[in-house]
Amino acid sequence: MEFEYGIIGGGPAGYTAGMMLAKQGHSVVLFEKEKLGGTCLNRGCIPTKSLLHSSEVYRQILSSSEYGLDINIKSFDFSKIIEKRDKTVEKIRKSLELAVKNSGVNVIYSEASVLDDKTILANGEEYKVSHIITAIGAKPRELKGLEFDGEFILSSDDVLKCDKLPKSVLIIGSGAIGIEWARIFSNFGVEVSIVELAEHLIPLADIEVSKRIERIFKQKKLKYYLNDCIEKIENKVVTLKSGIEIEPEFIFSAVGRVPEKLDFGTAIGDSSGEIQLAHYAISQANKLACGVEYRKDLIPSVIYGEPEIAWVGLREQDCDETYEKQMLPITALGKSWCDDSTDGFIKLITKDNFIAGAHIVSKEASALIHEVLIAMQNNIPVDKLREVCFAHPTYSEGIYELVCR
Ligand SMILES: Cc1cc2nc3c(=O)[nH]c(=O)nc-3n(C[C@H](O)[C@H](O)[C@H](O)COP(=O)(O)OP(=O)(O)OC[C@H]3O[C@@H](n4cnc5c(N)ncnc54)[C@H](O)[C@@H]3O)c2cc1C
Repeated sequence: MEFEYGIIGGGPAGYTAGMMLAKQGHSVVLFEKEKLGGTCLNRGCIPTKSLLHSSEVYRQILSSSEYGLDINIKSFDFSKIIEKRDKTVEKIRKSLELAVKNSGVNVIYSEASVLDDKTILANGEEYKVSHIITAIGAKPRELKGLEFDGEFILSSDDVLKCDKLPKSVLIIGSGAIGIEWARIFSNFGVEVSIVELAEHLIPLADIEVSKRIERIFKQKKLKYYLNDCIEKIENKVVTLKSGIEIEPEFIFSAVGRVPEKLDFGTAIGDSSGEIQLAHYAISQANKLACGVEYRKDLIPSVIYGEPEIAWVGLREQDCDETYEKQMLPITALGKSWCDDSTDGFIKLITKDNFIAGAHIVSKEASALIHEVLIAMQNNIPVDKLREVCFAHPTYSEGIYELVCR
């Protein structure tokens, strides 16, 4: 069988490239060894956000009396929450499968290997292709001495397989995955401890974002240990370098992901070893398939939960004194009081009338960040943003207030 393009991997990078190429009239064969949607849909972005949402609804109902509601809730059925998560994933996967099929991509459900730069082997058959694209993702990173065993030391894949919640968990690492799971567990009443090697939680974030999240975590009684790491484990008792002893039901190691590699073709998505985010994978795929450019310095980061965290561009710790900083507490916005979601801020870093960075801790931060991002990417100066009429009451008004200063 002969095709113009052979794509290995059916995650966001692979299926986006496949659909875009097929829509342009190219013949495409895509190989997927598990399920279409890849990590993002099946083991990452989507299932975690579904769990997070359920946990937030539970939390809100527990505090319903504060909103004048009289709801009595005893507990929750975790198996039903998992069922809901799995149905959500399945529904999205079915739509994706249909979209991929309708675009004209030939999907082969099989592990594929590359024989040479024009031949892919799958299901015992050889596929002749003019171009090979590898989009095979990444796998959870294992720390030396803390190898995953699926029982006491869990990866992000293992943790999704849990059919019941632990009483307590120790999370290693406070990147997006660690923080989101800390929020899920904590909302469901699990005792959470986080150990982070860096000086602050979310080491990749702006320093003030990290400090605010530390404060919020303290208020919510999530324990965290900074500048620290696991020194030893004996009979499931974990001793940190600082001497602190923790006895978690299990450890969830969330210390990043290692790109999977094939030595042929063009690698896109997590496999490329660049930014490991689904939307970055999609941008890379669009560039490869359609020549759509993107700016690597303007890839937004979002961490979900209450409050959301989002940022793009330069952070305070990246800037010298030629940059200016504007900060608005979320309490300044009427909407935050209506929503009972007043902890957070919108921070803009500017230089010569242009935005160089934005850092948001707020409900709806995941949407808000794009308002700033569009201005940044299109070189819209701050004083031009003042001419935009922002609706009231919204969180977007916060951006307006900042650019009007
Ligand atoms: C818990 C968790 C939460 C996350 N949350 C977010 C989020 O909120 N937002 C975000 O942007 N990103 C998130 N990510 C990251 C996101 O999932 C990845 O960046 C994204 O999936 C990368 O897409 P990809 O196509 O490069 O790889 P993948 O989605 O990993 O897809 C690779 C595919 O290749 C297949 N494959 C591998 N080898 C072969 C082979 N030899 N033959 C055939 N098929 C093969 C795999 O089965 C897989 O389906 C999260 C990740 C995790 C683990």
